[in-house]
Amino acid sequence: MPNQNLNTTLDEKTLWKAVLAELQLVVSPTNYSTWLKPTLAQSLEKNKLIIVCQNPYTKDRLTKLMPLIQEAVNRIGRDEYEVKFVIGDTSPKKDGQVEMGPLFSQTPKASKESVARSGLFPKYTFDNYIMGKNNQLAFAIATAVAQTPGTVYNPVFFYSGVGLGKTHLTQAIGNKIMQDHPELKIIYCTGEDFTNEMIDAIRAKGSAKNMTAEFRDKYRKADVLLIDDIQFIAGKEGTQEEFFHTFNALYMKQKQIIITSDRPPRDFKNIEDRITSRFSSGIIADIQAPDYDTRMAILKNKRDQTKGNISDEVLEFIAQKVSTNIRELEGAYLQVLTKGNAKTGGVTLETAAETLGQTLKEEKQKPINVNQIIKAVCNYYSVKSVDLKGERRTKDIVLPRQVAMYLIKDLTGTPLITIGELLGGRDHTTIIHGVRKIEVEVGAVVKTRQDISNIKQLINTL
Ligand code: ADP
Ligand code: MG
Repeated sequence: MPNQNLNTTLDEKTLWKAVLAELQLVVSPTNYSTWLKPTLAQSLEKNKLIIVCQNPYTKDRLTKLMPLIQEAVNRIGRDEYEVKFVIGDTSPKKDGQVEMGPLFSQTPKASKESVARSGLFPKYTFDNYIMGKNNQLAFAIATAVAQTPGTVYNPVFFYSGVGLGKTHLTQAIGNKIMQDHPELKIIYCTGEDFTNEMIDAIRAKGSAKNMTAEFRDKYRKADVLLIDDIQFIAGKEGTQEEFFHTFNALYMKQKQIIITSDRPPRDFKNIEDRITSRFSSGIIADIQAPDYDTRMAILKNKRDQTKGNISDEVLEFIAQKVSTNIRELEGAYLQVLTKGNAKTGGVTLETAAETLGQTLKEEKQKPINVNQIIKAVCNYYSVKSVDLKGERRTKDIVLPRQVAMYLIKDLTGTPLITIGELLGGRDHTTIIHGVRKIEVEVGAVVKTRQDISNIKQLINTL
């Protein structure tokens, strides 16, 4: 493995481009196009990233956005760079000017043939991928990688349960890169495809040693390799060996590698450590089940795409009924639509109830109570509930306390004032602050997301 310092290739232009790609998702479109877009990355020296902006007013506005900007720079630049704004000439066509194609442009440039060879399905794009709290980080990484392949995050590892959007997101990256860079060789395959192709190649030549050069070449000459559902190679030593060498060959050439799986690298049992440690050497992001608002956004998007004549009320019903799997959510939508279209009255709530009643088991909603949440948080962080509700403000107790605020709000919708009372008589502004802080962290820090997800699981077992 080469020395893992990817930043040796990170110049100011690339870094800033990736940062802008992330910020584009976070700030309002007006803020983005007025303040951020017309900037120029000037230099990256002595741990300072110098950004040129047009005038003092712009500089002032950018300074207000500094926490967000610095956070993105830290994430992409591995905490190495401090951002500084200077005023200067930002007129276009100068060296270092950030040129960014629109993320959602749809003009297909790649030939049909190269699309077919890549294993990509054109239907999976960023346009029809809905971003929500559940996939915020994965989405930000995906869009950044799609705009600057091979430079900012490598490898990228996405994991989630089934039907939560790994394949769609991975394919969207491939499609976007293909569109912008038809000259690049992009390969999408599943862990299973990789295994089967390798077995076929060996069989054709009689032994692993003589494995056709074709197979090796195909993968080792890729510019972008997207491997979906890598868990399939668990327990298959030959495949792992081959994959390991493919991975290293690509990584050394700074080719973009994106991997998905049903679990985080640390949870693999039958995959060699040398491989799982490669997975962990880049960036890892999970995708959680979508919350209610995201489910509604997905359904509304589906309705637009299918031009379905179906009311918000019915969509709300579906969003309430199907909560853990987006594939099932889409399936439920289509079933209801089909059933409704066959009836004279169109899609009514009754049709929906009838249709889903037949196919879905009612999810037993055990209401979660506040005490359960507090207990789980205390167990998880090994703190006492009297301390959680008490006055101490040391770091070891402040974090669990804020996590409790966040989870109570998120899971039970309890009003902020009541949460304040339940947590030792705190003011509701303190609660707002705590909830927001964790919300931001959940969107930005993998560790916090994992903690929250672990605690949620713990709550269900109490
Ligand atoms: P996974 O690979 O994690 O099992 P998929 O990517 O196959 O999940 O997603 C299942 C279905 O849900 C696909 O039809 C996909 O288009 C859709 N889907 C998943 N996530 C989203 C999302 N965020 N927005 C819109 N559609 C989504
Ligand atoms: Mg999949």
